[in-house]
Amino acid sequence: MSGNGWLRPKKSRQKLRKRGLDNPGDLTTISSRSSIKNGPGVSVDKDLPPLPPVAPLQAHRLKYKEAHSRIDTQRGENRDYTALIHALGLEDPFDDDESWPRRERDEEGERPPGEPVVASLPSHLWTQIAGYLNPKDAVCLALASRTLYARLGKAPFEALRRPENASHKLALLLTLDRYLPRHLLCFPCGKYHLRSQPGCEKLQPSDALVRNPVFVCPNARNMLRRAPRHRIAHGWSLPFSLVQLATRAARFGPHYGVDVDALARRWKGKSGDSEDGWSHSTRFLIHDGRLLMRVVSQCFAPPNLSPSGQRLLLFSRDDYFPYFSVCAHWRDGELTQVCKCALTHVPEELPRGPQSIEAKFKNSLLMGPRRPTAATAPTLCGFCQPMRRCPKCPTEYLIEIKLSEVRNHHHRGGVEFRHALVVTRWSDLGDGSAPSTSLEWAACNGDQAGAGYDSFSRLGKRAISGIFEAKISSDNTGIPGRRIMSMNPGNVKGGDDWY
Ligand SMILES: [Zn+2]
Ligand SMILES: [Zn+2]
Ligand SMILES: [Zn+2]
Repeated sequence: MSGNGWLRPKKSRQKLRKRGLDNPGDLTTISSRSSIKNGPGVSVDKDLPPLPPVAPLQAHRLKYKEAHSRIDTQRGENRDYTALIHALGLEDPFDDDESWPRRERDEEGERPPGEPVVASLPSHLWTQIAGYLNPKDAVCLALASRTLYARLGKAPFEALRRPENASHKLALLLTLDRYLPRHLLCFPCGKYHLRSQPGCEKLQPSDALVRNPVFVCPNARNMLRRAPRHRIAHGWSLPFSLVQLATRAARFGPHYGVDVDALARRWKGKSGDSEDGWSHSTRFLIHDGRLLMRVVSQCFAPPNLSPSGQRLLLFSRDDYFPYFSVCAHWRDGELTQVCKCALTHVPEELPRGPQSIEAKFKNSLLMGPRRPTAATAPTLCGFCQPMRRCPKCPTEYLIEIKLSEVRNHHHRGGVEFRHALVVTRWSDLGDGSAPSTSLEWAACNGDQAGAGYDSFSRLGKRAISGIFEAKISSDNTGIPGRRIMSMNPGNVKGGDDWY
């Protein structure tokens, strides 16, 4: 097509050239291509400068084409992959790969050694820098390298040893927990003691704990520096060391502590040498790194108890504490009133006189053993039925009247059921870090460190009892959804009406 002619490169303007001034009529046509050869028949005047082999524009084009021949004409991409990699890699190093752990790379020595830089600052300057840190961090800085230790000297360690810095010392010791599975941090001493019975530590009565301690401690009998513990019931308490062991085992591994299921116990309450009629069972589990405890306390309750009879049933004569398990705030609020109200709902039972063996046999043939039925299960009122939550610590209570089996060895003939007051308590005992830093532990014990604890804002709608029962029961049914009310709605403190 003739229209395509404009696309063709223009021919050199120098296609015509005068041969010489002496022979003006004789013109020689020199095409740009034929001039390369300078073939015969073409005479070049010696006075003129030699002709370049190609016209300047064409020469430029050829040069450009050669330089960019590896670029894709359609997409403009560089088809030369070696050049591509060259351009990417040689001048700039590759970007940091975040998937590669930085610490490993540092250990491999990729980072230039910083010792000369550290050593370039004089001692007094490093001491000034350490002065901005708290005592624990200053010691960590001094322990970071040999040079820093030489620059900072013993001053940070001496500062940490002062009694007013005890909390900083504990914080430093706690960072070593991971490296000492056979030891346990003792808080009264501020030292790690060797565990005397590793893996076999268990919940035991307070007097037995003296004989089988978790570790041998010089402060064990020092009443001024008592090991932290939480009262479960009369004669039984949970030492903080067991909270440490249970949470450590969950955090680091089984040889760091004890299995949380091994802490479950059952016992009958005693006052003096005789039984007080109450029986208790504990169960524990770890949730979110914290130790949760459930204590079920129960006692057979006769109907129509007088007020003094109720008190006799609920409170110990030894210390006027309730027989059942309570948190430190049980005196403030309605907890004991709720228990007394529940006791008024115990239904009248049929009088049970002495039966002859024949009558018993006849009865068991006719009716079978006495079993609880829906008709005999008592109902509670609107005041004592809802669960109660202590507003000042993560503890919840459920008070029930239940039919319970009487284990009586003298009557082998049949199974007997009676009504019992059952008080179930759930508590969150914290993460086992330290009695002063574990907020839940401090709150349950009523310590100063847990003074501002507000269970309703912290727990919200997630009840401890709900979490506990959902985890324990295999079918995940949990306890029936009960309303949770505050144990102390009036926010009274130090009231006398608990008794
Ligand atoms: Zn100790
Ligand atoms: Zn009631
Ligand atoms: Zn409480």
